[in-house]
Amino acid sequence: MSELGIIENGAIMIRGDRIMWIGPTKKLPMREERKEESQVLDAVGLELTALPGFVDAHTHPIFVGARADEYEQRSMGKSYEEIAAAGGGIATSVRQLRAATLDQLVESAERHFRLFLSHGTTTIEAKTGYGLSMEEEWKSLRALSVARSRSRLEVIPTFLGAHAIPEEYRQARRDYVRLLTDEMIPRAAKENLAEFCDVFCDSGHFTLEESRSILLAAKAAGLGLRIHAEELKRSGGAKLAAELGARSADHLECVNDSDIEALAKAGTVATLLPGTAFSLGLRRYPPARKLIDAGVPVALATDFNPGSCYNLNMQLVLTIACSHMKMTPAEAITAATINGAYSLGVSSRVGSLEEDKQADVVFMDCGDYRELPYFFGVNHCVAVIKKGNIIINRLESM
Ligand SMILES: [Zn+2]
Repeated sequence: MSELGIIENGAIMIRGDRIMWIGPTKKLPMREERKEESQVLDAVGLELTALPGFVDAHTHPIFVGARADEYEQRSMGKSYEEIAAAGGGIATSVRQLRAATLDQLVESAERHFRLFLSHGTTTIEAKTGYGLSMEEEWKSLRALSVARSRSRLEVIPTFLGAHAIPEEYRQARRDYVRLLTDEMIPRAAKENLAEFCDVFCDSGHFTLEESRSILLAAKAAGLGLRIHAEELKRSGGAKLAAELGARSADHLECVNDSDIEALAKAGTVATLLPGTAFSLGLRRYPPARKLIDAGVPVALATDFNPGSCYNLNMQLVLTIACSHMKMTPAEAITAATINGAYSLGVSSRVGSLEEDKQADVVFMDCGDYRELPYFFGVNHCVAVIKKGNIIINRLESM
């Protein structure tokens, strides 16, 4: 994870949506005859770092409205759990989403997608999970599909009907789990609206046994598996992920040594979301060093959502990972690009700058990659190429 393969004074040649050539500028194969047809993004004389677009493998961008009032309450000392117990938290976002039209939901998702791109993220995983009924989860899946088709951002959809038990099923949670396993999950797979299925396996959400039946239904339907595990309390979700061959186990603040061993053995990616503890003002971060040293592939993601982490900037996640989890800048960049891509099953195409891979390149206004986490709180991203198209270019004004 610490090997970045840096090329000083480098150049990248792109044709169509592919990287044709990458190496030191002085070795750039010149093709005089085609010069007029080509477009040049000239960074000569600028202190820039080009890197693969970030792959943010854990986001919840399908919501409307925000929860600034809850943030204010937390700033005055209330905990996230206290706010949820009083009817706030995810339930607030569920009420807001159910009251919104499809168009409003699409518009909100498009805004989020624009912001991801402008901060250097070119691929995301996107979860539903604020509908929590057949009708409202389908509104979310449709909004996701429409917004995806209108954006340059690459979006991999995940069905998260198992985000929380909805209010109306509080006394009949088995019925909601059955609705998920017997109807919603098979339908999401059949209609090709999701590639992955996720479950929030934690105290106050879904039990280990409920999570197992949800993930087994997803596996049977042909969906890839992801899980919110060991965030609030240790629940056994990490071991379940390893056992069922999940692609990724996410959060992991409370994992123990035997969980780490199981993840390493299974090759399950540990997707860490340190922005959440940061935003909630908690001191408990996932044990990134232990995971890396045990050989678990570690990815970093934002957890972008309107409650516990209203941040979609991966650059800030790098800072939190280095400052609070003691990952090195190189490890953090690997985790935020190729390892995120691996957790989504797209690492042969995106997540690194290599010949024949998709041309997803971002330019950051620092000559030393370590400044990305070190100089924090600003957006370093000055240009974005997605699938070979220059979609953001602020170089002229530099
Ligand atoms: Zn999440």
